[in-house]
Amino acid sequence: MDCCNNKIIIAIDGYSSSGKSTFARRIAARLGYIFIDTGAMYRAVTLYALENNAVDADGTVDKDRLIGMLDDIKITFRFNSERGASDVYVNGENVEGRIRSIAVSNLVSKVSSIPEVREKLVAIQQELGRDRGVVMDGRDIGTVVFPDAELKIFLTADPAVRAKRRYDELSAKGERVSYEEIERNVRDRDRADETREISPLRKAADAVVLDNSHMTLDEQMEWVMQRVEEKISRQ
Ligand code: C5P
Repeated sequence: MDCCNNKIIIAIDGYSSSGKSTFARRIAARLGYIFIDTGAMYRAVTLYALENNAVDADGTVDKDRLIGMLDDIKITFRFNSERGASDVYVNGENVEGRIRSIAVSNLVSKVSSIPEVREKLVAIQQELGRDRGVVMDGRDIGTVVFPDAELKIFLTADPAVRAKRRYDELSAKGERVSYEEIERNVRDRDRADETREISPLRKAADAVVLDNSHMTLDEQMEWVMQRVEEKISRQ
């Protein structure tokens, strides 16, 4: 398969902890494409807000303060060969290890509902995909960021399966959290992401749905590569 002269954009949207990033990263590695985890960008802005007094003691995001800071936040990615994926950087500092904490997870939906934040991050995402050859995962990639993506996948899984995945991921990193808290966070973020006014999480009309509750990553790869090959051969 000639992957490199007729590159496409693959948009992967879906619910929290549905395995989007692992799946997207694997597809990108197979095709020699760039992988962009847009959730990491919203998390990085949230971490910046937490660390720069744009979150009040009662946990509410100080929107005006955060909006005023946006020009000071420079988000970049750099490939980490150990992880086989790009780490996210804020103003030159690698924040990958800190953006998945429960503190960030509990606030990120509020931050991502701010129009000015979305405007800034969507512009960066569109620039990263300008030459195509990207696999991008998020909530609004197929609907807003790249409505013309050649392949759109909407990934979902049972909420309990997703909460268990996130719990295992955090436990493996040594973060002490209860399964109940994770499950609540996953459900709350789903609701917040689906009901926000700007760019809510929804399936693009031309996206294909993949419920991976009972699928291995290899099975998902087999499913997707057939579709990728079809799309690339049509380019
Ligand atoms: O993908 P992940 O779960 O890490 O995303 C964290 C949060 O970032 C989501 O719950 C959502 O609020 C926000 N997000 C978004 N749009 C995207 C990607 C993520 O609003 N394209």
